[in-house]
Amino acid sequence: MELDSLRDTTSITAERPAWRARLALVLLAVMLLGASLLLWQKMVTIERAHANERVAAQARLLTRQLEGGLTTQAQDLYRVAELWQHHGRLSRDEWELQARFSLQHFRGYQAIQWADADLRLRWILPMAGNEAAANFQLTPAHPNYLLAMQAKTQGKAVFSNSFELVQGGRGFALYTPLYIQNDRGERTFDGFVQGIFRVQTLMDELLDTVDSAGFNVRLLEFGRPLYSREQADFSAGLQQELPLHLLNNRNFTLQLNPTRKLAQQLSSPLPMVVLGAGLITTLLLIAALALALENARRAGDLLASNSRLNEEVGNRELIEQVLRDSRERLQLVVDLTDSSRDGLFIIDPQNRNILHMNKATYSSLGYSADEFREQLRDHPESLLLGFHAWVELVRQAQHDNQGKIFQREMRRRNGSIQPAEISAQLVQVNGHEYLIGVSRDNNERLQLEAQLQHLSQRDGLTGLYNRRFFDHQLHSEWRRLQRIGAPMSLLMLDVDHFKAYNDQLGHLAGDDALRKVATALQSCLLRDGDAVCRYGGEEFALILANTDQAGAELIAARIHHALAELHLPHPGSPLSCLTASIGLSTVTPNRDSHPDSLVAHSDQALYQAKHQGRNCTCVWRKS
Ligand code: GH3
Ligand code: MG
Ligand code: MG
Repeated sequence: MELDSLRDTTSITAERPAWRARLALVLLAVMLLGASLLLWQKMVTIERAHANERVAAQARLLTRQLEGGLTTQAQDLYRVAELWQHHGRLSRDEWELQARFSLQHFRGYQAIQWADADLRLRWILPMAGNEAAANFQLTPAHPNYLLAMQAKTQGKAVFSNSFELVQGGRGFALYTPLYIQNDRGERTFDGFVQGIFRVQTLMDELLDTVDSAGFNVRLLEFGRPLYSREQADFSAGLQQELPLHLLNNRNFTLQLNPTRKLAQQLSSPLPMVVLGAGLITTLLLIAALALALENARRAGDLLASNSRLNEEVGNRELIEQVLRDSRERLQLVVDLTDSSRDGLFIIDPQNRNILHMNKATYSSLGYSADEFREQLRDHPESLLLGFHAWVELVRQAQHDNQGKIFQREMRRRNGSIQPAEISAQLVQVNGHEYLIGVSRDNNERLQLEAQLQHLSQRDGLTGLYNRRFFDHQLHSEWRRLQRIGAPMSLLMLDVDHFKAYNDQLGHLAGDDALRKVATALQSCLLRDGDAVCRYGGEEFALILANTDQAGAELIAARIHHALAELHLPHPGSPLSCLTASIGLSTVTPNRDSHPDSLVAHSDQALYQAKHQGRNCTCVWRKS
């Protein structure tokens, strides 16, 4: 039982730290992943801001370049205006020379033309493609009229908003006012040298002269799309909108979307690298920690299992020690029981299999162990006389809570019978019944008891029954005869003048005479159950069971005859030989009578016989 308490109780408690460690690991992984993502997001934001800045810078540069490009081209027309003012109206050839020069250097022009002071077009270069504009006069109805008037009054070139060209399509016009100065220094308005631009052509040309490949470009006028040059791919999110000052016109906006290629050039892979590195580091760290944790757990398990194993080994050694001790004790018990002279056995009373028996059980009867087993199993009634009845007796005695020692008889191997005192008990173990017995050969004791009993019942001098036996026998026969309603006679005999016999012949002779009288008395009794007892001194009592008065008188007569046949001389007796007087009484025992009364009656009859002269028998009669 103590061994059971040593069993393993650690498995549940060992699981708890493992779960805590795993939870901590998961939390650490979540934290590291979160930190990596946060760092990545931060870097993405920074990168995006940087990219935005770079895109914005490039966009600003592009815008300035576009503005500069147009301004450069406008210089040609300003130079014409300068020449016009200093040299007077140019000849057509000279004008055309200037105009053709400008047209060659900048393909963005649709036409360069001169309108006179009445705002009617006079000269147009090239004519091809611009025929519709010939003789066109700018009227107040035209959307550029007020603009042109403003240029005229301010004396500054004005770049128009977009409008429908008479040639068809949408375009711009650069109105450069022309003045002629007379000798007095007075200025006279002499029309406009006009640069006409198709929106599409102008923007294409301007964009071609600068590095705009990195952007999708849209031109907005008052926020409305006017022109666009878009590439197949563009990157949303980095769009820039910048005011575009086409000369002095500030109504335009340039919308620039960097292409994906540009966006990629501007963006850095650093955030992704950082994110990747963070994730890989996290995963590696977690994997390493998990591995370490697993190793620690395994080491712990190994340690626990080692400790369990050690404990188990200890327990086993303890158990083995206990078993060894038990075995040794058992062997000692077996050896001791084998040395016992009493038989000790445990059997199954149902099938009579022997669980255990010591040597004395079988050897005292002359059997070998196997022979005894076989005998008990196959011939129980022969081995232990009345075996089955005896088992029932044992069961009944146990049930009645009575003594459990039985006197039985067993058959020895040589067929003889051996009395055996068997102490037996039935025991229930795990629902099975066993009989435990201790047997002892009590033949000697029985004989001794018989001897003792014999001695206790006998008179030492004569060998007859003594007074104690007389009392016992008288009462038991009384009861027996009372039951069967048969008569009983009692003879009380007293040797005559025996005092004188002793006095004259000596006590030894007296003793010898008493022994001879006893033998003679015994020879007179024929039936079993009759008993001759030395009642005391030279008095004898004869119990005659189932004998009526006539029968008793016959026995009395036979006694007188037998004593006479002894021929014992008695010098002190008037008859000269030893004689005896007898008192006889007969009764059929019943409830109202008592054995003592029978003794008293016989005594009275004896007294009477003495009184009548001795050597005779008197019968008691109720007076
Ligand atoms: P009575 O005829 O009236 O019976 O005369 P009695 O002498 O026999 O009577 P009494 O009772 O006076 O004497 C009995 C004697 O028996 C006395 C005693 O010495 C003798 N006696 C009794 N027991 C023994 C005995 O064991 N051995 C011997 N030798 N004598 C005994
Ligand atoms: Mg006497
Ligand atoms: Mg006498």
